[in-house]
Amino acid sequence: MPATRDLTDAPVELDDATVTYRGDRFRRYLDADTIQSRVAEMGQQISADYADTTPILVSVLNGAFMFTADLMRAINTDCEIDFIKLSSYGAAKVSSGEVHELKSVDAELEGRDVLIVEDIVDTGLSMDFMKGRLQEYNPASLRVATLLHKPTATEPDLTLDYVGFQIPDLFVIGYGLDYGQLARNLADIYILDED
Ligand code: 5GP
Repeated sequence: MPATRDLTDAPVELDDATVTYRGDRFRRYLDADTIQSRVAEMGQQISADYADTTPILVSVLNGAFMFTADLMRAINTDCEIDFIKLSSYGAAKVSSGEVHELKSVDAELEGRDVLIVEDIVDTGLSMDFMKGRLQEYNPASLRVATLLHKPTATEPDLTLDYVGFQIPDLFVIGYGLDYGQLARNLADIYILDED
């Protein structure tokens, strides 16, 4: 399996499908088939890597719920699930830079193989905070699976173990990712149309 699908150098190819939320127009960037085939690859890789253990997936609410549901169905070894929620950007398109924990995990993580499941890593501040927070529970291992990664925006020393797509530093919505709480129900991923 490729380590990631790197789209950062490719021209941003958008098709004609558009959606409008809160007066802003977005163009389709990654269609549902492209997303699903990559999620299936990630599930295969995770199944192989965790074949001898029962990992616990820690899904980051709200954005990662859809990716987590598809990824979990693509994993064919035993696994468990729990959820964590951090403060988000709210309706803003730019990170406020402050992260708080709004909901902590319920499961006992000590000695467990923990896999954080995130929708997108942008600056990496949230992921950095979360890794530090979950490390306090002394898990046997702690890894990260993220569907999207904006490498040019991220602190360079953040380790991401499973990355679906590396994308340019553009604002995306759909497939769990919101625009002022809307658009999470889209099966495809769209990019803000700056024109
Ligand atoms: P970071 O802390 O890495 O800057 O941001 C992490 C969080 O910001 C993500 O979990 C997500 O909620 C939000 N975020 C970052 N980039 C985007 C984006 O392009 N679109 C949307 N909808 N949310 C984003």
